[in-house]
Amino acid sequence: MPGVQWEFVLFADSEPNAFAVPGGKAGVNTGIMPIAITDAGLATIIGHEIAHLTARHAAERVSQKRAAQIGAGVLGLVIPEAGLLTTGVGYGTQLGLLKFSRAHELEADQIGSILMARAGYDPREAVNFWQRFADYKKQKGKATSMEFLSTHPLDERRINALRSYIPRAMSEYLG
Ligand SMILES: [Zn+2]
Repeated sequence: MPGVQWEFVLFADSEPNAFAVPGGKAGVNTGIMPIAITDAGLATIIGHEIAHLTARHAAERVSQKRAAQIGAGVLGLVIPEAGLLTTGVGYGTQLGLLKFSRAHELEADQIGSILMARAGYDPREAVNFWQRFADYKKQKGKATSMEFLSTHPLDERRINALRSYIPRAMSEYLG
């Protein structure tokens, strides 16, 4: 994404959440660290969020749903302006409301595994991370209203799809 000024910010917030905002802004909460555990775990999250941006999922989502149905607030999402991430947090919340489709989630996993591999992190760790997240979700039960959990299906289907992406990412990792 030429011309994008990437900005990554860690928020002191106990909710395990991460999000990306068009314009190259990504946020990760401290609450996700006990699930990330390793650098490769964190790389999985950041790779996934970057992938949502590079694949322009938010823009696709807006056009899919039609701007009028979503409301003026979210329209800011499709304008690739380099706003401050502090304003992006509000967008991030709205982005959660957008909720990416399962196809977008799988695509973000696939692209994310390649991005983390290119950055020097073992993409097999992505499977371990999402499994830890699935376990966490199970522990918390369905009662949780946590945004990241509600917007990221963590079932066998997703984990199996992710496994199928690993060989391609491994070829990037071993280069
Ligand atoms: Zn996602």
